[in-house]
Amino acid sequence: MSSTIAPGVVTGERYRTLVGAAKSGGYALAAVNVTTSSTVNSALEAAATNRADIIIQLSNGGAQFFAGQGMPDGFQAKVLGAVSAARHIHLLAEHYGVCVVLHTDHADKSLIPWVEAMLDHGERAFEQTGQPLYSSHMLDLSAEPIDWNLNESARVLERMAKIDMSLEIELGVTGGEEDGVGSDVDDHADPRLYTQPEDVLQAYDLLTPLGDFSVAASFGNVHGVYKPGNVKLRPEILKNSQALIEKERGAGLNPLNLVFHGGSGSEKSQIAEAVSYGVFKMNIDTDTQFAYSAPAKPYVDEHAKAFLHQIDPDDGTPYKKQYDPRKWVRKCEQGMAARLAEAFDDLGSAGKTIAG
Ligand SMILES: [Zn+2]
Repeated sequence: MSSTIAPGVVTGERYRTLVGAAKSGGYALAAVNVTTSSTVNSALEAAATNRADIIIQLSNGGAQFFAGQGMPDGFQAKVLGAVSAARHIHLLAEHYGVCVVLHTDHADKSLIPWVEAMLDHGERAFEQTGQPLYSSHMLDLSAEPIDWNLNESARVLERMAKIDMSLEIELGVTGGEEDGVGSDVDDHADPRLYTQPEDVLQAYDLLTPLGDFSVAASFGNVHGVYKPGNVKLRPEILKNSQALIEKERGAGLNPLNLVFHGGSGSEKSQIAEAVSYGVFKMNIDTDTQFAYSAPAKPYVDEHAKAFLHQIDPDDGTPYKKQYDPRKWVRKCEQGMAARLAEAFDDLGSAGKTIAG
């Protein structure tokens, strides 16, 4: 390993260093969606245990849940939940001894105000601490015409670059939906599921002078997990986009920082192929949601009475130690952490932390 950096949340130059280490090292970072401090801590624990740097991200719905579904103003909850999660992670991440990238997930046209409100907080944090709250936000304007998508992405990137932030954009459509944002495109014959390399070149030319960005390129990937055979991945689309920019702009190998959405349920060989074409980030949500929830079932089955009675109605046995949420929530955290360990193996990031 060429260089190490301090553990904790990485932004700006340190984020660039981490992305560079992943790409040159031939591995990618797992980007896991979280919704609570419990899922955050599970992600941090998995990263620490496996010595893998990690990307922790929130969708707008996840951020709202982090603030609390009972908060009366839903928009405010989406903003403050994102701020609260970021502060939680900034405080704890360095103590887990790994590098953590803080990200937000899909924001379509209607959610641009959410991103800008988070940037208000990010700019304040940058003034006060020299570091923004988030390493990167995502703007997914892929449902809009390409020129509008790129011009709006450019406008927001200019603002973000001033506080050492990176922007993830989307070109082409990821099928399925992620937390209310997404498309009903799920027919793999639909050309919109496959990013056009010419669009990627246009994005590269417009955004490269403005700041750091990454591209969620569509190669048939779909959010969620479906029956085998329903999703036809074509990772060569990623290769073709990289090749066009290498050729047209004389850039080195894999000049683009690519993001793989809809990683849940994907075949391991296609994950490896995508990583070889410059994917440094793979999003995982559906599989970790299942891994978190599944352990609750056997626990509740095994301790069924404790979920019906505080004290056994027949023999008076107190069940407090069994229904204490820490008991069963801990099983959920361990389930999610185990699934993340598998993701780190698939992506080649286990044991590769650059934190030192
Ligand atoms: Zn996505």
